[in-house]
Amino acid sequence: MSQVPRIPLNDGNSIPQLGFGVFLVQPDEAERIVSDALEAGYRHIDTAAIYGNEVGVGRAIAASGIPRDELFITTKLANPDQGTRSAHDAIDLSLAKLQLDKVDLYLIHWPTPARDLYVESWQAMEQIRDDGKTTSIGVSNFQIPHLDRLLAETETVPAVNQIELHPTFQQREIRAWGVEHDMRIESWGPLGQGKYDLFGLAPITAAATAHGVTPAQIVIRWHLQSGLIVFPKSNSVDRIRENFDVFGFELSGEELAAIDALEADNRVGGHPDVVGNA
Ligand code: NDP
Repeated sequence: MSQVPRIPLNDGNSIPQLGFGVFLVQPDEAERIVSDALEAGYRHIDTAAIYGNEVGVGRAIAASGIPRDELFITTKLANPDQGTRSAHDAIDLSLAKLQLDKVDLYLIHWPTPARDLYVESWQAMEQIRDDGKTTSIGVSNFQIPHLDRLLAETETVPAVNQIELHPTFQQREIRAWGVEHDMRIESWGPLGQGKYDLFGLAPITAAATAHGVTPAQIVIRWHLQSGLIVFPKSNSVDRIRENFDVFGFELSGEELAAIDALEADNRVGGHPDVVGNA
């Protein structure tokens, strides 16, 4: 039995709360790195068509011999493939590359609002789910107006919204929307993508010293204890194992509050209003 808790989704499915992300994992390294992650105990892999590494992810899954029902595989509809026909073609191509009959979760990668295709794409996702090619459907990088529009114009509340989220960028308004509408939140860039000195911030170093763990383990634990779904990426087998070894300690209420107080509206990745619009 895995020690990773499962989070129930609004459609009856459930997702392992801790997984492994593969953004910027090179295609020719993906099989080895995902194999390392599966060996370390991860059973939830987060990839995307645009990452270019679905073939390697699929090879690692096939080589692992792990029963399919023990794995949770997410992939994402790339921006250029939004729209009804291309969405159906895109999931077929992703499934072929992953060597799977279905994924567990399929996401619209970005809303690309200026193209105004995300409602049509969401209706295609509903059909893709009904066709049995994914168990759950969700979105990524959606802001509140985009979510409100799906609510008003379609039948399905996204199971998840995968958004940039780390201690200095906590996305409290979208999280509150998720609580209100029964949509889970996935944190991308959970370690700040290594783009600022997250691991040097005082509440994080203090907690790391107190628990005898690394700052990265403290940050992952903060995501987990905040009810977020999280899948840190690493190319290093040692850090892959370190990031999974987070179930032997617990942050106190004071430690969580001190990290919560780090909020600084510090977005380090692309803004959903503009990414993919061109
Ligand atoms: P992360 O916040 O997971 O940071 C990854 C960086 O942190 C890498 O440079 C890695 O280096 C380093 N790192 C990992 N573990 C440790 C550790 N224990 N100690 C020190 N450094 C560490 O960023 P990601 O952007 O990868 O986000 C995670 C996942 O979220 C992605 O892989 C992807 O699946 C998803 N994502 C989704 C997006 C979306 O638009 N939907 C956008 C971006 C990400 P090294 O590899 O050398 O260990």
